[in-house]
Amino acid sequence: MRKRITIFGATGSIGENTVDLLIRQGGAGAYDVVALTGGRNIARLAEQARELQADLAVTAYPELYEDLKTALDGTGVEVAAGPQALVDAADRPSDWIMSAIVGAAGLVPGMRALQHGTTLALANKESLVTAGPLLLATAEQNKARILPVDSEHSAVFQALVGEEMEAVERIIITASGGAFRDWPIEALEKATPEEASSHPNWAMGQRITVDSASMFNKALELIETKEYFGVDPKRIEAVVHPESLIHALVGFRDGAIMAHVGPPDMRHAIGYALNWPERADLPVARLDLTEIGQLNFRPACEKRWPALRLAREVMEAGGLTGAAFNAAKEAALDAFLARQIKFTQMSEVVEAVLDRLSRESGLTNDAISLEKVLEVDHLARQTAVSVVQMIE
Ligand code: NDP
Ligand code: MG
Repeated sequence: MRKRITIFGATGSIGENTVDLLIRQGGAGAYDVVALTGGRNIARLAEQARELQADLAVTAYPELYEDLKTALDGTGVEVAAGPQALVDAADRPSDWIMSAIVGAAGLVPGMRALQHGTTLALANKESLVTAGPLLLATAEQNKARILPVDSEHSAVFQALVGEEMEAVERIIITASGGAFRDWPIEALEKATPEEASSHPNWAMGQRITVDSASMFNKALELIETKEYFGVDPKRIEAVVHPESLIHALVGFRDGAIMAHVGPPDMRHAIGYALNWPERADLPVARLDLTEIGQLNFRPACEKRWPALRLAREVMEAGGLTGAAFNAAKEAALDAFLARQIKFTQMSEVVEAVLDRLSRESGLTNDAISLEKVLEVDHLARQTAVSVVQMIE
């Protein structure tokens, strides 16, 4: 039987890489593409739906329904729009769903997929950061599997094949250091959105690229590591590795360290999740070690990247702190991209929101439910907006 596939966020960077792999692995002839979802890029969504002969194409925005309908007229592809339509798409039986919407908006459709026992290839790290325990419990209850797609977590997952978690002493996540790793710290407050939007090694969506420069991406990934692998935060480390060739390392009790090495191409991690538990031929570059010559590592300085310190605090606090952290981060990023605040003020905004909410709302008092996560997400965004207004 052909594997039934759905892609949430098909028009994004991860989504496009997933579509590329599907096409290389036989496309519409080899897979039964159930649904593709996108946001504003209607032309591309329609093109993908046509090429992969999807049953359904969904845009997240109701006002774009007519555009999508027109673009797919006469193709037989069903069309829908709006947040509820996204969740409904997860109700259609699939064997493998890619979760690659950016931001907290990816949580609800992913949760719905898990409720149906579907295998969820998880690129949307925000789901684990905001609602990790809920996501894992939902997967367990419904015998669903979550396969990590974030390159570091895919690397750890691969290094752990055949190992027991009790044997793990430490998990080391590497970071490229992003656009500003070599800038003097004093220059960072002058950094513009354009400067923050270019990455030395990876081609990714704009938001995650800026988050790489601020290390908020790495902060999310540290929390993601704690949630997904269930390790004590004290055993999770970040190290700067400018070449981005080692994606993560797992240290074991006997002192051995297993490193996952590969080119900075997300099609490796996506392809691993798509073909798991088998390995398939993937169109990623093969590394020539003698050409690479050397690999470098430096400490991930918390003064340069305060997001890393905040991540540690979030991991220690647990509860709904991750939901507040992620939402405040998303709002601070919006404010930076809109030039309302400086690059260095993003972490100040997030810290102020966490301080205020943990004092006023007690982020660790309540059990994590979807309602609570969405409530805290909303509150943290509102609080961030008022903090930004005070700064402006
Ligand atoms: P992009 O910004 O490139 O793509 C995001 C996708 O989500 C697009 O399809 C976009 O539609 C859609 N989208 C945007 N907003 C909404 C919304 N409110 N509701 C529904 N859909 C929406 O992001 P990336 O592909 O870079 O990242 C996707 C996820 O994967 C993120 O969680 C990111 O952290 C994670 N990730 C990404 C990596 C990468 O290499 N890019 C690496 C590891 C993890 P449209 O473009 O049509 O508007
Ligand atoms: Mg990553």
